[in-house]
Amino acid sequence: MICPYCNTAMEKGKIQVNDSLYWTPMEENRIAVSTWSKTKNSKKIAKWNWLLLQSTVNADYCKKCKKIIINVEDMSEE
Ligand SMILES: [Zn+2]
Repeated sequence: MICPYCNTAMEKGKIQVNDSLYWTPMEENRIAVSTWSKTKNSKKIAKWNWLLLQSTVNADYCKKCKKIIINVEDMSEE
């Protein structure tokens, strides 16, 4: 992916967490953050993998801008 901020090639990578990975609106907070906790408007951005016991999402990184871009095509309410 080309960085939309500086137009240079981004480094391919991924974010792996030992949890479900959610995006949560700023004014809401997950209580006692754990694999299954979320707020009413949380959106899951990485599917939990039962075999690997982790959630993984591809994430491209721009060293120059210090930005990470995550593809959220699978974002869901579950
Ligand atoms: Zn950049």
